[in-house]
Amino acid sequence: MNLADSERMAGTLESVGYVCAEDASDADVIVYNTCSIRDKAEQKVYSALGKQAKRKRSNMGGLKIVLAGCVAAQEGETLLRRVPELDLVMGPHHANRIDQLLEQVDQGSQVMAVEPIQIAEDIAVPRRDSDLTAWVNVIHGCNEKCTYCVVPNTRGVEQSRAPEAIRREMLALGEAGYKEVTLLGQNIDAYGRDLPGSAEDGSGRRAWTFTDLLQHVHDVPGIERIRFATSHPRYFTERLVRACAELPKLCEFFHIPFQSGDNDILREMKRGYTHERYRRIIDNIRRHMPDASVSGDAIVGFPGETEEQFEMTCALVREVGFDRVNTAAYSPRPNTPAAEWPNQIADLVKMDRLNRLNRIVNDVAEERAQRFLNHDVEVLVEGPNPRKSGEAVGRNRQNKLVFFPGDGNSMKGQLVNVHVDMVHAYTLFGHQVA
Ligand code: SF4
Repeated sequence: MNLADSERMAGTLESVGYVCAEDASDADVIVYNTCSIRDKAEQKVYSALGKQAKRKRSNMGGLKIVLAGCVAAQEGETLLRRVPELDLVMGPHHANRIDQLLEQVDQGSQVMAVEPIQIAEDIAVPRRDSDLTAWVNVIHGCNEKCTYCVVPNTRGVEQSRAPEAIRREMLALGEAGYKEVTLLGQNIDAYGRDLPGSAEDGSGRRAWTFTDLLQHVHDVPGIERIRFATSHPRYFTERLVRACAELPKLCEFFHIPFQSGDNDILREMKRGYTHERYRRIIDNIRRHMPDASVSGDAIVGFPGETEEQFEMTCALVREVGFDRVNTAAYSPRPNTPAAEWPNQIADLVKMDRLNRLNRIVNDVAEERAQRFLNHDVEVLVEGPNPRKSGEAVGRNRQNKLVFFPGDGNSMKGQLVNVHVDMVHAYTLFGHQVA
């Protein structure tokens, strides 16, 4: 989400004449787009800001410093007190307005824009970092109340974009030569809950669900592959699974965070599903798409987590056979319920559990990757392997990186078939076949 916001800010700035500086030390305006999901990311921002504040003091204020993103939304006024050299503090809702906010700075104000607002439909074309694959936001914010998470405080309530606006953006991407789109949302499968109306088929469903959106955008010319992230197990329906299996451009790759394998911890987290329900979703996906990749997120050391409860998370990882799991030790975040609970877990215990879980995750991923060995996979070529000349790199439909001998420059953007000769946990190696 932050990378997509950064592209929107860069596009907005370029549309009013800003150009990207070669080096941060040459820049007249520096924008930090921040993440507050863990304390470490937040601390890094303060250290970076300290350096720029010093530079600003030494060149008599010629530099403008902008702090954007979730740390800005979370800390607000506190930031201005801690770093008075800041010119603009802006929450993620305001990404599309960065040009107007900088105009206010030019008039001599120190500007704060952190209040939740209705996000303006994109008014500038994002400055995309790739000319092949693109992110398209479909829903902003989150209506859940997970007890460890800052996102509802920083990104606000759900705001679904209009289906026609999403389709228009994808049509423009297809025309511009993009081949792959990843639809983005904090809880993407909750898409449409805030849009008015009910379905015309008399089923009682709301007018737009995420499944309806996929069907609506699937035929966009030029776009060969569609992915989406992130899904919430609470909203991952049978209808969505069947649509993914039936729509040929939908890639067989699903990122569905589970956070814990223990039902009591899941209840404390207010996640709204159980270990068993999560397993049923994955079984359902694999029944329709046996080769599908499944990735997830997990937190270890949530307040009160016992060794047995941690073992349930390990058990879920083994049972599901994930292709990847993003793991993290629980990090207490400001203004979240779990941060206030007295039963916090010691850092050493958290680190020990994190290391043990990571070993299991890697073993499971390596084992699961074996299904590609000696099989042909379809690869969208992204270009040459930057680390090895004469080799091309791309991704298969299941989102694994695939390396193979070939001219990555001339093949860029093509879908080619690669026979897999060797597998690692997260990468495949092979040779091109007809
Ligand atoms: S679903 Fe939960 S973890 Fe995900 S963004 Fe919303 S509150 Fe945070």
